[in-house]
Formats: sequence, structure tokens, C-alpha cells
Amino acid sequence: MDFFEYAISNIEYRDPLFGIVILIFCIGLVSLFGYYWNYIISKKQQESLRKFMESFDYIGFDKEVKEFLALSPNPIPSLLFMAKMYQKSANYEKAIRLYTTLLDSIKNPLDKIPILESLGLVYTKAGFPLRAKEIYLEILHHYPRNPVTLNALIKIYEELNAFEDALNALDCLEEIQGGTQLHQSYLQTKILIFTSQNHTQITQKQLPAKLLATLKKEPRLMRLIMTFLKDYYPSLFWQCVLEIPQDSLLQILDLLWSQKEIPQEILEELENLPTQANNLRILKEILEAKGILSLSASQKAIFELEALCLLRANKSYQGDLRFSYQCTNCSGTSPLAFDRCPHCDELLTSKTLVFLKEKQDEVCYSFL
Ligand SMILES: [Zn+2]
Repeated sequence: MDFFEYAISNIEYRDPLFGIVILIFCIGLVSLFGYYWNYIISKKQQESLRKFMESFDYIGFDKEVKEFLALSPNPIPSLLFMAKMYQKSANYEKAIRLYTTLLDSIKNPLDKIPILESLGLVYTKAGFPLRAKEIYLEILHHYPRNPVTLNALIKIYEELNAFEDALNALDCLEEIQGGTQLHQSYLQTKILIFTSQNHTQITQKQLPAKLLATLKKEPRLMRLIMTFLKDYYPSLFWQCVLEIPQDSLLQILDLLWSQKEIPQEILEELENLPTQANNLRILKEILEAKGILSLSASQKAIFELEALCLLRANKSYQGDLRFSYQCTNCSGTSPLAFDRCPHCDELLTSKTLVFLKEKQDEVCYSFL
């Protein structure tokens, strides 16, 4: 055994300091390993964060577009097509970048108009109506006789509940192309309802008379006016239900179906109504199908009401109604009633569709 081995064996067994040194060495080794491990983890996190940030980095994208503009002989149609594709695939950020880069590169102001219109549309779809409004106002500032931009601006004003501004813009559209009477009535009604809800300007006495006059002049506004009256003037709502043509009631069947409290005098009047009488016939049938009035033997106006009355008579099943809304212009449907079609943007084209369904007892759970 040489001296070194002898010394170690002696120190190992005899010197307690050697054990402490080994312990400190082990602690240092573990700390070093832990430090290295944390370093690797933080590097990985930084790398993933950098990749995530890259997905929002449009600097390179702008550069590529500018290069393409500089090198290609006729780059604008291709870039416009690309922007439209981004727009259709709902990649609005890239579409906006492309349009703004294109605007910078085009010198002729007339050529900028279609790009600005597309940019306004993208801003509207991306949820920036104020930006879109600025763009449309800028176009109209230079080219006021532009019906496409005026129409787009009116829709933005409607979205922002700025109905007065929309009406002013519509006056310009009326001068250019005419045929905006229905739209004018719609906006005037919206102004009446909106100002009444904000308790300004219009007194409570004037409002119902004005709304009734509008309803008589333009029956297509029935849903809008009746929905407002149902919520704010219930007695006037029922007065209108008695006065408007009975066939029109089927268009607001959903509003009548959801009514829980019917005035007692109307119920009495309907109970005493002769079977052959034509006025109030449909209202009576609706209330019979709902189970409020006793059943009569007469034939009902629509299949769904007839079926509900038969189910009521047999008592084995309980039926109910559900509603959907269809556009008379594009035939698109929506589960919610609309003033402007969500598919084709046409105004006041909603038609109420009625469907039978099994009645389910609704249980309300309170969280309080
Ligand atoms: Zn439509």
C-alpha cells in the first residue's frame, strides 16, 4: 500500500473533517445541477415566448409586401386578391396591413377609393366601427356622391345607435338615388324609441300617438313598435293588438305567446265573441291554443294552433310553440328576431316561422 492510499484510508476513518468536506461537495453538486436545470427551463420558456411573439410580428410581412411592390410589374391586383383572401378567412390584421401598405404605394387618389372601402369593411368586421366611420367620412369628404360608402356609413351609425346621424346620411342617399322611405320611417321610429328610453326630449304623451301614426303608415315596422310597446306601454300594446288586422297578428305570434298577463276585459270580450265573428278571431285562437280561453269547435287559422288545440282536447300530450325568423329576401334564418338581416343586410325582411314542440316544465333555480 503506497502512502496516498494509506493517507486516505486513515483520513476516511479517522478525520471527521473529511466527511464534512464530502457533504459540502455533494450539496454544491446538487445546487449546481439545480441551477443548470433552471437555466435550461428558462431558456425553453424564452424560446416558446419568442415563437409566440413571432406569430404577431408583421414587420417581416410588411417588408415582403414592399419588396413585392417594388419588383413586380403589376403587383396591385395580386395583393388585392391576397387581402380579400385574408379578409374571407377572418385574418383581419393581415388584411388591414396589406390594405394600408397598398394605400401608401398608390399615388392616384381615385384608385385609393375601392381600397379604402374594403379597409372600412374589414374594420367593421374586425369590430372597430369608429375606425370604419373615420374612413367612410374621409372618402365622402373627397367624393360625396358615393352611394356604396353612404350605405356603409349608415349601417355603422345604426350599429353605434347614432340614428340622427344615420338619418342625415340617408337624406344624402335619398337625393342621389331615392327609394329610402321605408328606411327613413325605420330610423325615425328608432329615434323616437331611443330618445324615449333615455327620457329626453319626447314627452310620454306624444310618444304613443307618434308611434301609432307610424305603425298605420308603415305596417312593416309592426314588430319594432309592438316590441317596444309590450315592454314600456302594455295597455297600449293590447289596444294595438285589438286594432291591427288579425292576419298581421301571426307575424307577432311570438310576442303574444310570451305574454303571461292578459287584461281581464279583453278575455271577457273574447269569451263572448260569436263563433262566426271574423274580428279578433285569430287572437281568440291563439289564447285557446295557449290554454287561457276554453276551446271552441271552429277551424284554426294555422296548422300549429289547430294541433295545439287538439292536444289540449285530448290531454295526453302538452304542446308548445317555438319560433324562428326567416329573411324574405335571402331565405336565411336566425333564432333571434332582427331588424336588419344578419345574412344579406336587408332591412325589415323578417318573417316569423312557427314550430310545434313538446311542452317542458321549466324549473328556475335561484342562485340567491
Ligand atoms: Zn337576408
